[in-house]
Amino acid sequence: MTEKLTASTVDGVLVPKSDGRPVAKAEKLVSVKGMNDILPPDSARWDWLEDKVRTRMKRYAYQSIRTPILEPTALFVRGTGEATDIVEKEMYSFEDRLNGELLTLRPENTPGVVRAAIQHNLTYDGGKRLYYMGPMFRHERPQRGRYRQFYQLGAEALGFADPQVDAELMLLAHDLLADLGLRDFRVEINSLGLPAERKLHRASLISYFQKHMDMLDAEAQRRLLTNPLRILDTKNPAMQALVMAAPQLLGFLGESSLRHFDAVKSLLSACGVKWAVNPRLVRGLDYYSHTVFEFVTDQLGAQGTLCGGGRYDGLFELLGGKPTPAVGWGMGLERVLELVKEQAADIAPSAPDAFAVILDAPSLPVAVKALAELRNCGVNVQMHASGVEGWASMKSQLKRADSSGARFALIFGADELAGNCVAVKSLREIDGQQIRQPLGGISSWARTLQLIN
Ligand code: ATP
Ligand code: MG
Repeated sequence: MTEKLTASTVDGVLVPKSDGRPVAKAEKLVSVKGMNDILPPDSARWDWLEDKVRTRMKRYAYQSIRTPILEPTALFVRGTGEATDIVEKEMYSFEDRLNGELLTLRPENTPGVVRAAIQHNLTYDGGKRLYYMGPMFRHERPQRGRYRQFYQLGAEALGFADPQVDAELMLLAHDLLADLGLRDFRVEINSLGLPAERKLHRASLISYFQKHMDMLDAEAQRRLLTNPLRILDTKNPAMQALVMAAPQLLGFLGESSLRHFDAVKSLLSACGVKWAVNPRLVRGLDYYSHTVFEFVTDQLGAQGTLCGGGRYDGLFELLGGKPTPAVGWGMGLERVLELVKEQAADIAPSAPDAFAVILDAPSLPVAVKALAELRNCGVNVQMHASGVEGWASMKSQLKRADSSGARFALIFGADELAGNCVAVKSLREIDGQQIRQPLGGISSWARTLQLIN
């Protein structure tokens, strides 16, 4: 069947005919506002970070979990909470054109992990320690450290009620930041106690704010009866004094809640982690209990919270599961990497070990086969290829070899191939030597040159 060769339009933009001939100069497309491309050499820093994360998670015996990026909207309405900024104004939600299902790009991963745990009965034989890394989506005003697609690392310990697991998770985050070479961050901690204790505090908070109605901004007035705890979290400078003098939840905690809180703090201290109680640190939802915490830096301006987490013993039931204690945190990786740039050593993108200079078409089959053999021995090899047809000169290929950062150039020319050899030229020494090596014994000279161990 022959395809019809006509220009067509997609969303009003002319696209090339299907035979590849352009009809008109196509308009450039750019990424969605607040959503970033991560490009080399910066991507090397991301790879480095992900390696550090995997190693650290293994040390603590956390296993990875991957859940879908798209979930039913109801999961977040229930699991993140209707009265939160996320659900009120930040979600990318839409109706599936084909079946009318209401879907949302995940703004966070905790509800997805808990949904998966319930769906697959993950905690049937005891607790599970899990971690994830991946993109999240929130429709916020983009600025440094705040994007519409951003990456979160999260750790969740499901099915554990003991305070040592709260401490373990905090130590895990602390160790990871240290692995990345970060210093100068604070660990803030608070306890939200139990729902009954919070109810008493809530009543006293509402009556306190009601006495000062004239000092509440519009958002606080709106939240007074739906989510008064969240008012403590306000960023409005005009309300800081009011919030500072508000009744503190800590004053309403009973004995067992205080014991849980003290156990977490003393375990952190025993491990040399410096923490500070921040009585205004809150998560305004009923399914939270006991420990909440944040890792904060002053070096990133207003977007200084690197990691936030806490215990959410009520979430499983809210999502239709059996009562299951759980605790976790989420860490913003763009912010962490900003801090790495400021505080830690530079991460150089990795260079290939060798760069293959190939001088003519007849050399290609032998060269490509030799490169495959080298790679199978564990050598990282970049092959020359040019953007236009034809063969670049030896000089220009060697220039590229040099700027690739490789230690050696492997020169495949007619002379070398006639002798079943390759010329290996050292690029990182003054007057780098060039020595012919036999194609028959690749692994032995690769070892001699310390290209492999
Ligand atoms: P904030 O108060 O900064 O909006 P949050 O309370 O909404 O943070 P969480 O939902 O607890 O944040 O998410 C955990 C972490 O994810 C935050 O501490 C932050 O490091 C990161 N984070 C949250 N939103 C964004 C975003 N839009 N862009 C980049 N990182 C983000
Ligand atoms: Mg937010």
